[in-house]
Amino acid sequence: MIRSLHTRFLRRGRRPRIQQHLRLVAAVAVAVVASPVQARVDYVIDLTSPEHHLAQVSAVFPATPAPYLEVKMPAWRTGRYTILDLANGVRRFTATDGQGHPLSWRKIDKSTWRIELPQPGAVRVGYELYANELGLRTRHIDDSHAYLDASAVFMYADRYRADDVSVALSVPPAWKSYSGMTSPAPQRFVAPNWDILVDSPIETGIEKAYRFSEGGRDYEVTIWGDGNYDPGQVVADIRKIVPQAGSIWSGYPFQRYVFMIHATDGVGGATEHRNSTVIQVPRWNFQPRAKYLDFLSTTAHEFIHTWNVKNYRAAGMVPYDYERENYTDLLWLEEGSTEYFADPLLLRAGLMKPDEYFGNLSRLIDRHKHKFGANEQSVADASFDEWISVGGDRANNAQVDIYDEGQIASWMLDLALLQQTGGRISYRDVHEALYRRFGGPARGFTAADVRAILKELTGASWEAWWAQNVDSPARVDFDRLLAPVGLKLQAGPQVAWAGWSAEAAPGGMRLRSVERGSPAWGAGFVPDDIIVAIDGKRIAGDRFDAAIAESRAGATVTVSYFRRDQLAQKTMTLGSNPKERPAVVRVEHPTAAQMALFKRWLLIPYPKGS
Ligand SMILES: [Zn+2]
Repeated sequence: MIRSLHTRFLRRGRRPRIQQHLRLVAAVAVAVVASPVQARVDYVIDLTSPEHHLAQVSAVFPATPAPYLEVKMPAWRTGRYTILDLANGVRRFTATDGQGHPLSWRKIDKSTWRIELPQPGAVRVGYELYANELGLRTRHIDDSHAYLDASAVFMYADRYRADDVSVALSVPPAWKSYSGMTSPAPQRFVAPNWDILVDSPIETGIEKAYRFSEGGRDYEVTIWGDGNYDPGQVVADIRKIVPQAGSIWSGYPFQRYVFMIHATDGVGGATEHRNSTVIQVPRWNFQPRAKYLDFLSTTAHEFIHTWNVKNYRAAGMVPYDYERENYTDLLWLEEGSTEYFADPLLLRAGLMKPDEYFGNLSRLIDRHKHKFGANEQSVADASFDEWISVGGDRANNAQVDIYDEGQIASWMLDLALLQQTGGRISYRDVHEALYRRFGGPARGFTAADVRAILKELTGASWEAWWAQNVDSPARVDFDRLLAPVGLKLQAGPQVAWAGWSAEAAPGGMRLRSVERGSPAWGAGFVPDDIIVAIDGKRIAGDRFDAAIAESRAGATVTVSYFRRDQLAQKTMTLGSNPKERPAVVRVEHPTAAQMALFKRWLLIPYPKGS
């Protein structure tokens, strides 16, 4: 039922996409007719009083013949597949003509301002922008810096979307500005169109800044904020990562690239852009080594996006529609495959040890095994519905996330390719083919295009594989993924198990998740129940997990809990589960064939036993 609905939706979705495209082509054609020379939109942003998170923005649009000009703020930004309604930071909007006379205007929807033009002419709009949002990586201004993603800062007009843009910044005296865009002068950037401006965020302030060249290309690293990092080490390690992209692709789609790092509080995550990325790390999360490796892994992930997403991407995302959702069933390939390629880059760079990589795989496997939603939703459906994904623990019973399950689907495809071709073809070859065939801004690829590439590379059809593992919830056999490359899952002893997770709350432990089909689910527990006692004994902190683990599988326990401040009791019969998560380890006696396939898989030698 879910499948057929989905297919119908996709078919319906195709037509608006073509119309969008025609609309864009028409808009470009009008612009060309209206302005024999390339038009230009000039933006100025004044950040000289940044402490209240405010900027004054102006934009001058070229002479416009129509009876009105419509200017807009996007509803979302690229890389974050959620409606954000970025017009919500605009205040004190004004519009004037070329002589400075006020023009009348009105809003016609939540994101669009229509400015009346009694006669043809240039239009200048001005507005105050409130920018106090950090974790979504849209716009943040304070007394130390500004991070400006243009989709959250600069208004656009459809008719001038394909024309040149320039940005001039007015900033406090000590501030310096960085962006992937060309900078013809200090505090000034230019781009050939609004789409490139949107994909080239600006970081400005008093940042630590470093430069290096590698493989004939220029790299910059900026770091905003203090933390427990060694900037020399950060730059040296990034320098080791960038050449490793050559193990996947035959070329680099940029000449200059900027890594913007925010070391700050309460946020984490990163966003890919055309030839830059912004990476946010809680300031004390550069140590210990496991956390530092997470940071490097995120860095590799964003860098890989420079090809997978920013250079070639799914047809449903081409062109970006900033007013509404772009739909695709391939986000799993955009995010999950990017994640799948990230750690191996660190392995090849010598930054991560094989055992550390195996640890990450075992965590991935453990998450999958406790995600009931993996039986319920395919990665194709999860891709399509990413816009309404709830995310987090509570979604685990019904949904999969495109990062984890997309990574597993990529892993399955990689191993299937390697095994079927005796190590000749890997999943890297599929991405090289996507880069060669679909690289550049104009066109996107479909799932059928990917399957056609798979057939070309291997001579065999992948339709059945795709239907089973991408369009349906995959039945993952981890032993079959690990054995051909000389690895196996080592499970520890079983202990009693409830199937819930919890966090400390006043007076007890608040349930965060209850796994569907688990003993806790069967007993009727739900997230937000506050567990206070088991068998009449108060439990809190470490005792919460220990009290269950020290019981015996099959035992019945009495659980006291508060639900909406009302005390109640339930009995629960415990199940069993491995005490530790299953570890990915080497087999005792790997064969030559296993070691050879391991090397083709990760491009590093099969690790020696420790
Ligand atoms: Zn990503």
